[in-house]
This record gives sequence, structure tokens and C-alpha cells, in this order.
Amino acid sequence: MIATATEKASRTYRLGEFHRFEAGGSQFLYLVPAGAIFELDQPTTALIGILSKGEASHDLLVDNLASVGLSASDAEDLLEEMFQSHAIVAQDYIPEPVQDPPADFPLQTLVLNLTNQCNLSCTYCYEFGEDKVATPEGKPKFMDLETAKTSVNLLLDQSAGRENVHITFFGGETLMNFPLLKSVVAYANETAAAQGRTIDFSLTTNATLLTPAIIEFLSVNNIGVTVSMDGPPELHDKLRVFANGKGSYDIIAPRVKALIQGHRTRPITCRVTLTNGVTDVVRIYRHLKNDLGFHEVGFAPVTTSPDRLYAINERGMDGVLEQFHVLAQEWLEYALRGEMHGFSNVSDTIAELYQGVNKSHPCGAALGLVGVGPSGDIAPCHRFVDSDTHALGNVNTGIDREKQHAFLDRGHIKGKYDCHTCFARPLCAGGCHHEAFVRYGDTGHANLHYCDWIRDWTDTCLNIYGAISAQNPGFLQQFAERKAL
Ligand code: SF4
Ligand code: SF4
Repeated sequence: MIATATEKASRTYRLGEFHRFEAGGSQFLYLVPAGAIFELDQPTTALIGILSKGEASHDLLVDNLASVGLSASDAEDLLEEMFQSHAIVAQDYIPEPVQDPPADFPLQTLVLNLTNQCNLSCTYCYEFGEDKVATPEGKPKFMDLETAKTSVNLLLDQSAGRENVHITFFGGETLMNFPLLKSVVAYANETAAAQGRTIDFSLTTNATLLTPAIIEFLSVNNIGVTVSMDGPPELHDKLRVFANGKGSYDIIAPRVKALIQGHRTRPITCRVTLTNGVTDVVRIYRHLKNDLGFHEVGFAPVTTSPDRLYAINERGMDGVLEQFHVLAQEWLEYALRGEMHGFSNVSDTIAELYQGVNKSHPCGAALGLVGVGPSGDIAPCHRFVDSDTHALGNVNTGIDREKQHAFLDRGHIKGKYDCHTCFARPLCAGGCHHEAFVRYGDTGHANLHYCDWIRDWTDTCLNIYGAISAQNPGFLQQFAERKAL
């Protein structure tokens, strides 16, 4: 409803909820309830300055804005613009809750766990390690073609209105069931094409089983590949080992080089899991990017209970953040020259900021994305696959809407009261459901053990965003479509 001039004149204003930051010589507000970034100029800076001393009436503000050269009508316009963006709010303003996703939100991504078997025994693995949530007893270890086809049909049925959907192959080690992967690609392409639709494919692999023929198949079929790898041999081999304890680096490195060289249709990315003793982010990045030639490298600290030997302690996390800052600064320098840096943790956050993301849930789990295990059980995402406690139905019977909605209700930002005053919540929304379950035994608990870290990182990326939008704004356009790796 549009307010009348009399209604506007009767308002008393106060500051809205925002995080203020300075970058590239300009001042910005990150408007938290909207997840939007607002650049301040002289009059808006003056207005924020006045209201930071306390609330003020409409008329008083118009008078005060005359001192920075604003006519009464320009001051009215400015107040209305700032009011509409929620940078300033009326005295009695109650923030609107983040919009709920629609109950029948269509699927976008299916994560197909082709097998729960792996030929490595990485100590920290969430699937096989001490923190596993899976209960695979009595279930098949390898998915069969019928289950895979039914899963593809479920994705196509439950993604009405989407022309393009995504299948990502996962494991265990995905390539231990490569024959099935090939059949799924053929079936999914054919079925989607018959509906006038397309499917985009990707897979995550430990790279040990790559052969020239597999690389050629991935290239010809335009399948994106993410390799799980933890850096140079002395770091990678600490935990990424075969069952006999032998490190896997020497097997993986030549195969990765062949993949990067031989995959002609998609750039190859790497995902690093940081653990206690494997926190040398800059060195790991340089090796993976420069020595091996990955296009992008992303880092994630291990998801685990704090009492595991490989968990990173607080000091270790501070060290990781320091090194993230080094690469983030480098990322900014590249961006100001118009070049893309390969540190994907920055690229992913900049994309979310550019797209004005304001999350009700931390991720797409059970929303636009579901995981399916070899048994056909549906899970909120790949990390919950094969867990009876978290199953959301089976591909043969469909998604159990009651369980899905219960999971989404638990994970909604509205129930995470600690997050309600946090400026990082549009992007974080309480953090990973799986990590919350491992840490707190509740998928809907906010991951409060790393809030300082998340807020620091969000502020760092806001500063980068601000500096680019002040000095090389055209660079940001490429983030319109980017989805997190
Ligand atoms: S988990 Fe922490 S950092 Fe994330 S939104 Fe909640 S309070 Fe903020
Ligand atoms: S953030 Fe956590 S819950 Fe969400 S998709 Fe990733 S692993 Fe699953």
C-alpha cells in the first residue's frame, strides 16, 4: 500500500538492521533483512549519521538534510528510498520473516550415490568414519539400473517447470560403479529430451580409478568433475589413504593431470577437506592450482565432533582464516584487473552477494536437492544417504512430504533464535544441517561453534564486493548465474 504524504510526514524514523562497511573508498550498508548491498553517498551518509544518534521525526530529518544541500522534495525522495530499502524504518516497524519456500518447491538437483563403497579409507570420511550417520546394514552396496532409472524419473516428475535439471554422481567412490553412470547418462538424456528438457551432469571422485576411456566419456558428455584432494603429497597422504595405510597421492596426481588435459568441455575443480595438520591453505592452493592445474580450488574444514583427533581446534581455525585472507586479497587484485582467481570460496560468496541471496535454509538439502542411496532411499542430501533416521521416502514410493516438511521446518532460520541478530544470516542461515547433527544431534541447531569465523568471512567478502563494485563493477556480472560448487 502506498503511503500518503500525511502518513509519511507523521513517521518517526530509526535505523534499520544493517552491517556497515567501507571498501574501495566508498561506504556501504549490507541490508540484512533483504540481503542487499546499498552504496552510501553524501546525503545518505548524512541521514545515517543523524539517525545513529537516535530516532528522529520526518520533519526534523527533512530540515537536517537541507544542511547537505538537499531541497525539501529531494529529502522526501531520499527518505522514501531509504525507507523502502529498510535502511531506515518507522518506529513501530517489525521485520518481516524471511519468505518461506513454497511447499511444492520443484527439485533442481538429484545427488545419486551410485555406491556406498570406496577404495580409500580416509580417516575423516563422514560416510565411513566415526561420525557417520548412515545405517547401510542389509542394504545394497551398489545401486542397480532400475533404481537409478526410477530416481531419474522422480527428478523429472518433481521438477515441473524447470527446463534444465542437474544430476550429480556421488559415492562412496563414484567411479567404482562407472558402468551404471554411463547407463544413467544415456537414459537421463533420452528421457529428458523426450520431454523437451535437458540434464546437466557432474560427479565427485577421488580420481584413483580414472582411465583415458573414462576421461574421454566425461569430456564427450560434458560432465563436470570435482576431485577430492588435500594438497601436496605430505599433506594429502596424511589422511587420504588406502585400507593398508598407504597414501593415495602418487596414484592420483598423474590421473588428475590427464583429466585436466583430456577433459575438453568443462574446467576441473578441486575440493579440499581441511583437518588438524592439513591447514596450510596457501601452500595447498598453490600446489593444486599451479602445479597440478585445477581451474578452481575450494576448501572446507572437516565436519566432525570436536573431540576427533583430526578436528581443527580454535587456533587452527584462526590460522585457516588468516590464510583465507591472503588468498582473498589476491582474488581481489585479480578481479580489479578483470581476471578470475581460482579460490572458489570467494567466488561462491561473491555470487551469493551479487544474487542478493537471503536464505530461509542454509542450503538446498530437501528443498531443491535430494540425495538417493543405492537402496533407493531418499535423503535430504548426499551426507544423509542411507541413514534410516533421516530418510525422506524411497524412489519407488516417492518423497515423504511429511518427513520432508518436518526436516525443513527444523532447519528454517525462524527457529534459530541465536541467528536472528546476526548480520551473516542471509548467507549462513545457521549452517549445514549435517554438521549440526554431528555436533549437536539436531539438524535444526545453528552451528554456533564457528559464528565468529563466518562473520569474519562474510565481512571479508562484503569488502571485496564493495571494492569491485566501486572500481570494476562490470566484473560482477559474470556471477549472475553461478551456483556454489
Ligand atoms: S550460525 Fe552463527 S554465523 Fe551463522 S547465522 Fe547463525 S549466528 Fe550467524
Ligand atoms: S550444506 Fe550440509 S546439509 Fe546442506 S547439502 Fe551440504 S552437506 Fe548437505
